[in-house]
Amino acid sequence: MQLIDSHCHLNLSAFNNDVDAAVQRAQAAGVEKMIVIGTNMADSIKAIELAHQYPSIYATIGIHPHDSKNADEVGYERFKALSDDPKVVAYGEIGLDFYRDHSPKPVQRREFARQLNLAGSWVCRW
Ligand SMILES: [Zn+2]
Repeated sequence: MQLIDSHCHLNLSAFNNDVDAAVQRAQAAGVEKMIVIGTNMADSIKAIELAHQYPSIYATIGIHPHDSKNADEVGYERFKALSDDPKVVAYGEIGLDFYRDHSPKPVQRREFARQLNLAGSWVCRW
């Protein structure tokens, strides 16, 4: 059995000077793989960069419902290209968040559906 952290945010600025140590702590605790989650274009790219720096890290790409109001066609084309990266293993963090409503609900629904369609047309190589 492998221990995998399936949802971590080592791409956030709080880890800018601590990724090495965080990865070492995780490995010392028996975590063999870590999946760093993208929530917008910038931190999806950061997740991929980390995945290329550390063999144990993999990345996801996507737009969090809070950021769905900022989604655009150019970004989706870029996500399609990024999904070809062999270290990208999933779409996420996507979904709906009607608790905080940082993006209007109809926009969240529309962009969630777009991302599900994008994910549905993608073949994960992991
Ligand atoms: Zn998260």
